[in-house]
Amino acid sequence: MVLAQLGGSISRALQQMSNATIIDEKVLNECLNEITRALLQSDVQFKLVRDMQTNIKKIVNLDDLAAGHNKRKIIQQAIFNELCKMLDPGKPSFTPKKAKTSVVMFVGLQGSGKTTTCTKYAYYHQKKGWKPALVCADTFRAGAFDQLKQNATKAKIPFYGSYMESDPVKIAVEGVERFKKENCDLIIVDTSGRHKQEVALFEEMRQVSEATKPDLVIFVMDSSIGQAAFDQAQAFRQSVAVGAVIVTKMDGHAKGGGALSAVAATKSPVIFIGTGEHMDEFEVFDVKPFVSRLLG
Ligand code: GDP
Repeated sequence: MVLAQLGGSISRALQQMSNATIIDEKVLNECLNEITRALLQSDVQFKLVRDMQTNIKKIVNLDDLAAGHNKRKIIQQAIFNELCKMLDPGKPSFTPKKAKTSVVMFVGLQGSGKTTTCTKYAYYHQKKGWKPALVCADTFRAGAFDQLKQNATKAKIPFYGSYMESDPVKIAVEGVERFKKENCDLIIVDTSGRHKQEVALFEEMRQVSEATKPDLVIFVMDSSIGQAAFDQAQAFRQSVAVGAVIVTKMDGHAKGGGALSAVAATKSPVIFIGTGEHMDEFEVFDVKPFVSRLLG
């Protein structure tokens, strides 16, 4: 279910409930079940949905509702708060500071949009006056360096990589060192991905992270992976200290639920979303406006 539909389903469930003359437990349960179904169809993890349902029941006091309060508003507010809570892990991610060197490492499966997102992230900061640089530590996928080079050249961002070197750790370290010397304030390390979660990939991420000591590790996730999001995000988090999430491909047939799962699995906030293939199709992620839009 795409986000707009999810918002529509939730609004409909609330509308139906507020049409009822008496809001008793049965009516509330029906409304919550309807919302649960909508969230599950949007790929929100079952456990998260179940917890949310329990929390809302605890918050919403049926006696208050009976006393003529605006039922719809009370329940809608509870749902709004719960969805915000799901998307807000409670602590902000590390935020790089302009003119102070930060190393940011990107991780994610192949095809998640990692390389594209690295450039978008660099470009976003460059427009704000930063001095970003890109390091291609993906020696696994043939063509990875060319892709990064092409993107970087288009955006006029310095880059580092090698066609010959097969050790991603060596390239990552060399690139980071070089750009530190050049006083770049945002050194972005693009890493390799695989089609699936493999031991070798996670070991490689661990080594690159250990060698480059990133200030921030960003997990990049394709919004259309659905229910797989939780496990995938958790698997990355077990090998590197993921501190933030970027959800790509929120245009098109994006499902929103995966984002909630990734936040829950990594205990890290979503900081940006990708909304297209172009360099500037990239937005800062803000929990409250996102949830407001979701609820319509
Ligand atoms: P990587 O293998 O993870 O490095 O993924 P790439 O950066 O090569 O991206 C895979 C494909 O997804 C490419 O065709 C990108 O143009 C596309 N892509 C990346 N981000 C977005 C996005 O936000 N929206 C859309 N529609 N496509 C995207």
